[in-house]
Amino acid sequence: MVLRRKLAIVDLSKEKVTVQDVPNSLRKALFGGRGMNVYYLYKMLGDNVDPLSPDNILIFGTGLMTGTLAPCSGRFNTTSKSPESGFLADTNCGGYFAPELKYAGFERLIIKGKAKKPVILHVTDNNIEIKDAKDYWGQTTNEAQKRIRQDLGPVEMVLCGPAGENLVRFACVRTGVKNAGGRTGLGCVMGSKNLKAVAAYGTQGLQVAHPDRMIQKVEELKNYLMSSKITPILGSVGTLLLYEVSNAFGGIRTKNSTLNAWRDDHNAAFAEPFIEKMIACQACPVHCRHRNVFGGEGPEYTTLVLLGANIGMEKYEEIIKLGNLVNDLGLDVSSTGTYLAWAIDLYQQGKLDKKLTDGEELRWGDYEQAVRIINKIARREGFGNILAEGNRAAAKLGDPNKDYLIAVKDIPQSDPHDVRYMKAFALGIATASRGADHLRSRPTLEIFFKLPLEVKERIYGKGVTADPTSYDGKALVVTWSERIFATIDCLEMCKFICHGFNSPHFVDYSWMKELVYCVTGWEMSEAEVSEVGRRTVDLERLFNFKQGMTEAHDTLPRRYFDDPSPLRAARGHHIDRQKFAKMKAEFYALHGWTEDGRVPEERRMELEAIQ
Ligand code: SF4
Repeated sequence: MVLRRKLAIVDLSKEKVTVQDVPNSLRKALFGGRGMNVYYLYKMLGDNVDPLSPDNILIFGTGLMTGTLAPCSGRFNTTSKSPESGFLADTNCGGYFAPELKYAGFERLIIKGKAKKPVILHVTDNNIEIKDAKDYWGQTTNEAQKRIRQDLGPVEMVLCGPAGENLVRFACVRTGVKNAGGRTGLGCVMGSKNLKAVAAYGTQGLQVAHPDRMIQKVEELKNYLMSSKITPILGSVGTLLLYEVSNAFGGIRTKNSTLNAWRDDHNAAFAEPFIEKMIACQACPVHCRHRNVFGGEGPEYTTLVLLGANIGMEKYEEIIKLGNLVNDLGLDVSSTGTYLAWAIDLYQQGKLDKKLTDGEELRWGDYEQAVRIINKIARREGFGNILAEGNRAAAKLGDPNKDYLIAVKDIPQSDPHDVRYMKAFALGIATASRGADHLRSRPTLEIFFKLPLEVKERIYGKGVTADPTSYDGKALVVTWSERIFATIDCLEMCKFICHGFNSPHFVDYSWMKELVYCVTGWEMSEAEVSEVGRRTVDLERLFNFKQGMTEAHDTLPRRYFDDPSPLRAARGHHIDRQKFAKMKAEFYALHGWTEDGRVPEERRMELEAIQ
């Protein structure tokens, strides 16, 4: 039964595993996934904890839908305090690991302490064993997965690579060849705990409350998803579909945002010779992931731009290979591409001395040099050891105020969009709970010029202009998007099929309500389902403010304010500080936060009373 899966608390210092029941009242308030992870983090993490100390906690959490037949539901969130920012670390990831965790009887693992030597957790039916990882430590993510499967059989796993072991602050957690919990340095937290991997295999069925209705509704939903115009495109070219349209108006981060457009031929069609096939995460009819001919996966749109245009790479083949390398070493693509571009830009400006770069003259578009530096980052060698500190390298790199780093809250921007043209997007990355992040809100639907105003009224409760450069009404779009994406993250279904993510169709609150009923038997209104997302966003805000965040952290990279975009339709556009401040104030008001961006006391008490 879905509602009987357990919480396991693993204390690596004491080599002790404690298994607990989970109250349904808590599940009903937060659905699991991202929401319950931040709930436990907020409740359990002490004050002033160093993210790399044994006192930090690391949470792997599934959602109500994980492992069921619900489309695109093979997902989980990983959550902790970030060694990159000192605020919330949280990622959402697909693949096949999360369902196995659930089939083994667990919905969530909370890892405390630090193992004396490298270990892996081996999760089987109702059992968790702490095992020696000396044979896997030092191996890349692909090598280690092969070896672990040779030793343990058909397990699915989440693990860190050499970057995590070496405490690179932007190391990611990985499952499979490329699926990553990429942002905020969670691989680094794994490394700090001497935890190489969590490997799971379970044989227990996952009974739902209304199986016949579930089968019927899932069939209906799949047909509905597949009838959308965007699904077949996503299934044939993946996220690369976004490059052409963004590049056309000048929305591509290029050479550390000194430019805003790159090669027109870097569109999806150009990738075709390098793509072997499209593959999918568990229970996903969309299959948006590429398996490439060089043995890896991708490129995603993010890889194409952040390891391409952003560091001046011309050749598609080399971009794909860089993506494979970064993935295999367990580094985050977005942060790696952003920090590399930052360093090259600073070098070109004469702020960075050759003595620091191991004698390298940092250049745009030098593939061999990028390979050398990426390998050095993962192993913390020479100049790589400096870049491995991420934003903390600012003073050494000659940019003490981080004026040229494209980051918010010390987390590099996750996605390829140059946001100077798109004001809603700018607000979204400025206010996201885990730094400059597009996956918390990705507010682009309102600019679909073909979307009738009445449809937007139905979605947002109010008509919003399609003009991407307008600041009007954009706070409403960001708030609405944040809430629905948080809700689907709690259920652990993929955002690519969420209402509002590239499409006015897909899974809305009414579908969510239906699926929750099928799985749990709970009859909830759409407003109650939406409240789950709102609680999650508020809990993340409470956590961040407890860690020292203030309203001043909800801002943008200096370059987006002060340096207008130089190219194409976006030419001359930048973010106006006063208009941005007004938009931010509207955003706080829509969330019900105070003028300085705080969750009000009454709401805090209400959220802290959840159990
Ligand atoms: S749409 Fe893509 S990322 Fe989402 S579950 Fe399917 S294959 Fe995975």
